[in-house]
Amino acid sequence: MGAIYMKTFLDLCIKAIGAEHVILDELDQASYLVDWRNRKRGQALAILRPGSTLEVATLVKICSTYSVNIVPQGGNTGLVLGGIPEVNGSAVVISLKRLNKIRDIDVRNNTITVEAGCLLENVQISAGNSQRLFPLSLASQGSCTIGGNLATNAGGTGVLRYGNMRELCLGLEVVNAKGEVWNGLRALRKDNTGYDLRDLFIGSEGTLGIITAAVLKLYSKPNSQLTAFVALNSMIDAINFLLLIQKRSGAELTGFELMNQFSLDLVHKHFPTFQQVFSVAHPYYALIELSSGETELNLKDRLESSLEVANTSGLIEDAVVCFSESQTANCWQIRESISAAQAKEGRNIKHDISLPISKIADFIFETNHALQERFPGCQMVTFGHLGDGNLHYNISPPEGEVDSDFLQNQVIINQIVHDKTHFFHGSISAEHGIGTLKKQELLRYKSTIELDMMRGIKTALDPENIMNPGKIFETIQ
Ligand SMILES: Cc1cc2nc3c(=O)[nH]c(=O)nc-3n(C[C@H](O)[C@H](O)[C@H](O)COP(=O)(O)OP(=O)(O)OC[C@H]3O[C@@H](n4cnc5c(N)ncnc54)[C@H](O)[C@@H]3O)c2cc1C
Repeated sequence: MGAIYMKTFLDLCIKAIGAEHVILDELDQASYLVDWRNRKRGQALAILRPGSTLEVATLVKICSTYSVNIVPQGGNTGLVLGGIPEVNGSAVVISLKRLNKIRDIDVRNNTITVEAGCLLENVQISAGNSQRLFPLSLASQGSCTIGGNLATNAGGTGVLRYGNMRELCLGLEVVNAKGEVWNGLRALRKDNTGYDLRDLFIGSEGTLGIITAAVLKLYSKPNSQLTAFVALNSMIDAINFLLLIQKRSGAELTGFELMNQFSLDLVHKHFPTFQQVFSVAHPYYALIELSSGETELNLKDRLESSLEVANTSGLIEDAVVCFSESQTANCWQIRESISAAQAKEGRNIKHDISLPISKIADFIFETNHALQERFPGCQMVTFGHLGDGNLHYNISPPEGEVDSDFLQNQVIINQIVHDKTHFFHGSISAEHGIGTLKKQELLRYKSTIELDMMRGIKTALDPENIMNPGKIFETIQ
């Protein structure tokens, strides 16, 4: 963009939202331009921080007129580089963080209407203040925003019972690529009036439009909740234990998280203040949560009796039921610190995959074997939301090997893991999305028919290709 043209463009942005919300200084821009794991640093013409839907719409119109690409951004906690601009500096980042109002809570309809920049944690707190539950729960909830959660169709630990973000959203407000505001803020559980545009924008990673607000579902707050940490001898046992507890607890089972021993080793190495739950090591662990409208006593009886049945049938090795808040917090902190512990240990090769639950044990057996054959001594950090068939299957270097050397094997390791995932009819991205990190992999595993339909939707909604171009697909010419 020529200097005069660029000055006119920036002057218009300043006129639209005020100079204090147009960030041009390199130092002030820095935190918007690097991803959470510090893997990519982009550049931008400016960081724009609108304060209302109307201001977002005005900015998109200006960008469209001047053919400036837009990268929408929320909390910048995404894990596939979707919210980071390219290094050529030709795009603007539109940060939604100032759109942070709770617009309405309708307790009788069990819905909450929130702006896209609201932190997930603040939405949970607002729901709680009205004796309701907003069940999306992620380790990044203190930093990520509802807009980002919707744009990535976030999952987390409550999906087993409540579904992912798509299932928790009833309506959306979106600024489309022309800068028009679509008000689809419907608070309806049934609405079959043609194509579901809401579902198109959810999971679109900022490539179709900018989500500015949403109507989300609320649930009754449970009266009692219990967590148990369970030691397991094998993946097959873990899956059979999941089936048993699902059968016995039904909708009361609100979490079933898996961790292998190496994940726990990393957490205890880097967070030594967390209490060890078991004194001896086991191959796998499940962290389970039961929630109920009944008293804690009834829930405890049912949980203990299920654990007893599991124990007598040889499915579990050991179990600890948490009876205090601090014990419960300690167990969840262990689970939620696995990502941070890996980051402290060094870099490793990460995969966010999902599989039919019936295939997970075979997948792990075969993939572990294939990787060990090719890279003897490599260490698996296997954890995730087993109840949803979602594994974070990460590969760390053999002990003593430098992480940067091991990372050179990334392409071949990704191929081994993703080929096996595909073989077992799984997905190469369960909850983090595609961004720029997995777009080559997408080409490898999606059919031409599916990719063509996806590109058709992109072209129809964003014909000038200004909405987050280069994310999900290569730039469409
Ligand atoms: C420690 C940690 C744990 C995590 N755990 C989980 C987990 O359990 N489950 C899970 O699903 N994810 C998890 N994540 C990933 C991440 O937190 C989620 O993807 C989250 O939903 C991203 O929200 P955000 O506001 O940070 O979005 P950003 O990172 O800012 O953006 C993510 C994508 O959404 C687009 N976007 C953002 N806001 C908008 C908007 N308003 N309109 C249109 N597009 C937009 C961006 O362009 C980008 O493509 C974790 C991340 C961390 C760091």
